[in-house]
Amino acid sequence: MSPIDAILNRVLSGQRLTVEDGVRLFESDELEKIGHAANQVMQRIHPEPMTTFVIGRNINHTNVCDVYCRFCAFYRPPESSEGYVLSHEEIFQKIQETIDVNGTEILMQGGVNPNLTLAYFEDLLQQIKQRFTIHMHSLSTVEIGRMRDQTGLPMEEVLRRLNKAGLDSLPGAGAEILDDRIRQKISKRKGPWREWMDTMQAAHSVGMSTTATMVIGFGETMEERVLHMTRIRDAQDQCIQNGWNSPGFLAFIPWTFQSENTNMVADKVTAEEYLKTLAVSRLMLDNIRNFQSSWVTMGPDVGKQSLSYGCNDFGSTMMEENVVSAAACTHKVNIDLIIQLIREAGKIPAQRNTKYEILRVFDDKYRVEKDFVLQN
Ligand code: SF4
Repeated sequence: MSPIDAILNRVLSGQRLTVEDGVRLFESDELEKIGHAANQVMQRIHPEPMTTFVIGRNINHTNVCDVYCRFCAFYRPPESSEGYVLSHEEIFQKIQETIDVNGTEILMQGGVNPNLTLAYFEDLLQQIKQRFTIHMHSLSTVEIGRMRDQTGLPMEEVLRRLNKAGLDSLPGAGAEILDDRIRQKISKRKGPWREWMDTMQAAHSVGMSTTATMVIGFGETMEERVLHMTRIRDAQDQCIQNGWNSPGFLAFIPWTFQSENTNMVADKVTAEEYLKTLAVSRLMLDNIRNFQSSWVTMGPDVGKQSLSYGCNDFGSTMMEENVVSAAACTHKVNIDLIIQLIREAGKIPAQRNTKYEILRVFDDKYRVEKDFVLQN
């Protein structure tokens, strides 16, 4: 038996993989075999032949940022004449447009604007919740860290206040690669990986759910990629062991760095490299249920392939995505196309909410039994 077969047999028999196992998988060229195993693991957790997606909208509420990540094509420094902050009314209008197409999720993310305070976000979130029934999967660990520094409050208290005002869950942005060598190189001011993780764990401890991302293509080693995965796996274990009233990380979303319009030169990550990373992460992260496809950065065709490499979810319809589109990434597909792509991949499309509860199944056979609406 080859060393790769031995690793895959172990994971398929329910054993947890080590960092060394993960690195070996990355070093292997047996991509199809690894992908097949990842698909088997996914099917055990999600035996129904469905691929979910969420109808959601990105709202980039401000492009002003003083974190100056080298890889970011979106931000403008505080003194720039091109900086903006959306008005409350503009944000409300975008939320209404999302609800008008049966959307359920708002991913409000922008720059770390030094003028936007905890009080600003509390007021904005309260006003949103007074007007709309919508899940706010919003803000970033860096913005929350900034609010902690501005107020002097403990992180848990900042999160409790935001949660009370209407922040429902925290997206995984800002993880990039959870290793300090790479973080020093690409975004020094975002702080060490431990800070991202501490914020996520503080969110879990106050009962909020989160997601975890990983961005590849910064020149990281395969070991650094695997360490990223095991650090998330350890934190998810802790959430369970501590009995926090939170599902912890609801999903893992690996995607690829887009270097166009940024200050960094990097080789484009190939489709094979992306699919291998996806499959290895499905095999390593045995305590995370949902894996999202990264069709925004990889394009619809690779998005379809990803459904055979461990993904059970096609992510968000992303009605607006300035952070990625600023890097000339033009893959935009609408709801109908998402449904079509999922069908072309041999799966049944299903709309979900942010908690991964099924809202609607787009299939006649299932519609009779399962066309139901859950409360968001
Ligand atoms: S990635 Fe986010 S934190 Fe970094 S510069 Fe861009 S907007 Fe700011």
